[in-house]
Amino acid sequence: MHRILALSLFLVFLTPGAVAQDQTYDPDVLRTVVLDPGHGGENLGALGTTGAYEKDINLIIALKLKHLLEIRTNMRVLLTREDDRDVPFSERIGLANREKADLFISIHCNASFNARANGIETFVLSDAALQEESEKLATRRVARTGRLADAETDGAAAVVKDLFQQSGHDRAKAFANLLTGRMSKRTGSRIRGVKDMPALVLRGAEMPAVVVELGFLTHAVEGRRLASERYQKVYASSLYWSIVDEDKRLSRVQGPNRVASD
Ligand SMILES: [Zn+2]
Repeated sequence: MHRILALSLFLVFLTPGAVAQDQTYDPDVLRTVVLDPGHGGENLGALGTTGAYEKDINLIIALKLKHLLEIRTNMRVLLTREDDRDVPFSERIGLANREKADLFISIHCNASFNARANGIETFVLSDAALQEESEKLATRRVARTGRLADAETDGAAAVVKDLFQQSGHDRAKAFANLLTGRMSKRTGSRIRGVKDMPALVLRGAEMPAVVVELGFLTHAVEGRRLASERYQKVYASSLYWSIVDEDKRLSRVQGPNRVASD
């Protein structure tokens, strides 16, 4: 009898969602997360087979995800827009930088002229674009200390650049892999891959940042799913668990980050 009770308690612990009912998840590393629902206002994004606009679906899923994170965790969750308006890329990233976000997720849906195109795709800033960004960042950081002139010689720029590249790019990539894997498992969608690109959306980000293309609005099945409330919940929940998993992974790898990111 006791053994059965112990086993069921153990299983409850292993089941996703167990955290939600009894306790609030306390993040170690990802304490501030910025969600960026792509497009908005005049900027409609892709048009789905069902007539739904990408901008609306991005926002609905971002709001659902925000809600999940807020009721189940102690994370601080900020949205780059909470209603139907367009916000320039620089403002979206600017908010994340200003608020010292630990993670930036830009939420989008894909589209193609090929009606059969389908699957989940994530993007991180390409090495070349990142290099440029980190150099700019290094220069800015060094400039603040008033040592811009000898930045090259004392290696300060290189150090900041390396730190940013490693923690930013590698972490973004690791998270993107985790996210696509988890989402594919939940939705059955195929993984198109984690890709490097000079994404305008992510330029200037001072934290790990990813773009997720949840699926194709132009695909018969995925388009219907993306527009349905039931699947919107599934997408939000997959994103939720990816973020929690990522926090746990980072905590194991590098230990709690409470002091370092303050
Ligand atoms: Zn988009």
